[in-house]
Amino acid sequence: MEDKIISFLAFDGKVNIKCINSTNLVEEARKIHDLSPVTTAALGRLLTMGCLMGSNLKEKNDKITLQIKSNGPIDTMIVVANKNSTVRGYIKNSNVDVPLKSNGKLDVGSAVGKDGMLYIIRDIGLKEPYIGLTPLVSGEIAEDFTEYFAKSEQVPTAIALGVLVDKDGVKSAGGYIVQLMPDATEEDITKIEKNLKKMPPISKLLEKNMSLEDIAGLITGDGMLFMVGEDLFPEYKCDCKRSRIEKGLVSLGATELDDMINTDGKAEVECKFCKKKYVFSRADLEKLKQKCK
Ligand SMILES: [Zn+2]
Repeated sequence: MEDKIISFLAFDGKVNIKCINSTNLVEEARKIHDLSPVTTAALGRLLTMGCLMGSNLKEKNDKITLQIKSNGPIDTMIVVANKNSTVRGYIKNSNVDVPLKSNGKLDVGSAVGKDGMLYIIRDIGLKEPYIGLTPLVSGEIAEDFTEYFAKSEQVPTAIALGVLVDKDGVKSAGGYIVQLMPDATEEDITKIEKNLKKMPPISKLLEKNMSLEDIAGLITGDGMLFMVGEDLFPEYKCDCKRSRIEKGLVSLGATELDDMINTDGKAEVECKFCKKKYVFSRADLEKLKQKCK
């Protein structure tokens, strides 16, 4: 199945639901970053959330950055998503291994660590990006974002994010976000809460090839669903360019470039999101040096 995001309105437009299947893009991230099972789950959940939030952006050049910095062995994760739900991610420590939870599940909370912060940075073309932040609740990621929406944006939100992975790779990955509009009634809320409590893990539903439409149906129960907008097809994609890395090298200054020329006679810069290597020869570096002030 291809990766996809579908948006729905339910309960006469009072409830907004987005569902995503992100299996392929999480597998792509696993390969690029050589992720262990628990870091596949951790970065995979954050990438999935990035796609869901990126799909809400309005303009072509808007982007959203999700960053988790915490005291667990992973240390730092960064996800950047664009309007069309292309997404890329960075993880500081990719080979973390922690014992499974007593129920046999991957312990994402321990790998991330719960003593940390979640940062949400929206760059929508204004002079300054809009930055929201909240302390982590559990490091399990879905819970941390639920808290963020409740506290920082005052929107009652239910979020599920799941990645099913074994040593051969990602079996399934996906999630959903359910947001209540201000006019949702107590009755609507109770009904949805009841359904959400009964929901099997999203990764299990996707592993069984359940469609996103059917998953949304489980969330609303007998509530009517209306699809809104067009389907989106998220993917893992980096937009790094040689010209941007050149700019970065120039900004280091002539002394630093001289140092590279004299010690290695070249420079190799790796993109931290896609691991692509950019090599600059002695001649390249000499040319860039001319551009330094
Ligand atoms: Zn890149």
